[in-house]
Amino acid sequence: MTKINLDQNKCIGCNTCVLMDPETFEMDTTIYKAKVKKQPEVITDIIKSAVEACPVGAITIEQ
Ligand code: SF4
Repeated sequence: MTKINLDQNKCIGCNTCVLMDPETFEMDTTIYKAKVKKQPEVITDIIKSAVEACPVGAITIEQ
C-alpha cells in the first residue's frame, strides 16, 4: 500500500508542501510542523513535486 510519511522531526515549517498540495498536507499550527492531512489513493505528480520541493527531505513515499 502506498503511504506518505512526513517526518516532523525534520520539518522546518516552511509551508511549501501545504501550499503545493493542501488536500494532502496541512500545517499543525500548534507546533508549526506539517502533517499528512489525508493519505492519497494514488501518488499524483503534485505530491511528487511537493516531496521534491521539501527543503529538508522530510516527506517520503512508501510504496
Ligand atoms: S515542505 Fe518540508 S519542511 Fe516545508 S512544511 Fe512541508 S514537510 Fe515541512
